[in-house]
Amino acid sequence: MKDKFGREMKTLRLSVTDRCDLKCRYCMPEEGVAWLDKPQLLTLEEKIRAVETLVELGIDRIKITGGEPLLYPRLNDLVERLARLPLRDLSLTTNGTRLETLAEPLKKAGLKRVTVSLDSLDDERFKAITRGGSLKKVWDGLMAAEKAGLTPLKVNCVVLKENLEDVVDLARLTMDHPWEIRFIEYMPVTASVRLERSQGVPPKEVKAMIEAALGAMESVDGYAHAPSTDWRLPKAMGKIGFISSVSDSFCSRCDRLRLSADGFLKLCMAHADGLALKPLLQGGIPDAALKERIRGAVHHKPEGHSFWFTTPAPGEAMSRIGG
Ligand code: SAM
Ligand code: SF4
Repeated sequence: MKDKFGREMKTLRLSVTDRCDLKCRYCMPEEGVAWLDKPQLLTLEEKIRAVETLVELGIDRIKITGGEPLLYPRLNDLVERLARLPLRDLSLTTNGTRLETLAEPLKKAGLKRVTVSLDSLDDERFKAITRGGSLKKVWDGLMAAEKAGLTPLKVNCVVLKENLEDVVDLARLTMDHPWEIRFIEYMPVTASVRLERSQGVPPKEVKAMIEAALGAMESVDGYAHAPSTDWRLPKAMGKIGFISSVSDSFCSRCDRLRLSADGFLKLCMAHADGLALKPLLQGGIPDAALKERIRGAVHHKPEGHSFWFTTPAPGEAMSRIGG
């Protein structure tokens, strides 16, 4: 399944719920967002049919996301079903608040690995950025994920001016843990979060800060279509990744599609283009016609994004897009 620029689609970010138990400052407005109503959401069977079709069309990596995916009541059933598909990777991105108890059952259901969002190692700053989250809970979740074998573990940190002083301590974690710590540039996708783009820090500056404190890093190979570039500190067990979505576009190597909790197949994070699958699935569309509609939509995947020129969409919170 290729778009008109010849890019082959291999990765699906599957958002299983739009709900979340945190309100991170870069993702959700303080007043929250209106949740979708149950009838708008894909049912478990609709999700599975959509994913199976996409896998038949060539998708072989699935990243489950949200909102907060651990809030989705049928997550274990979904993972069990997805684990039977011919995939190279089945991972999940979580804020970690419920991971301590769910890590083991998810591993048993067939999940391969998790990425945990963790923006600060300081209790107060963590609480401020997530608007109420508990650093201890997330840390216990990380430990439980490692114990359950949901590895290699990745940690996502969105770097803002307010947590810039955390980046060296987070990077230092890679010295004694075989984790990948990824520093993500703030993307001004959602106007309603009212967070100026000037609050973000370009990954180049973050890298320079880490190297000044911990030594020069060497470049390491990763998945060729990944948005991150990967590095290693001298003698470190783990890796450090930088995702420069704003200052340095990776669109030419993008192999990603997104499916939202209400069944919208989104072609690019920064554009509204896509295909609403829910009405097609509810209308009983035959397999061949469904594939044709998806292929046709994918053909028109936008060439790329520029957050400098794209106006943030007021209604579309990152929590609903899934990151
Ligand atoms: N709730 C889960 C979590 O926090 O990991 C999954 C969904 S969240 C939308 C997925 C990822 O997107 C997280 O790592 C989060 O830090 C990142 N993210 C959210 N808003 C962002 C923004 N405005 N710019 C850059 N990354 C963002
Ligand atoms: Fe929730 Fe994840 Fe968004 Fe934070 S980044 S508000 S945890 S969806």
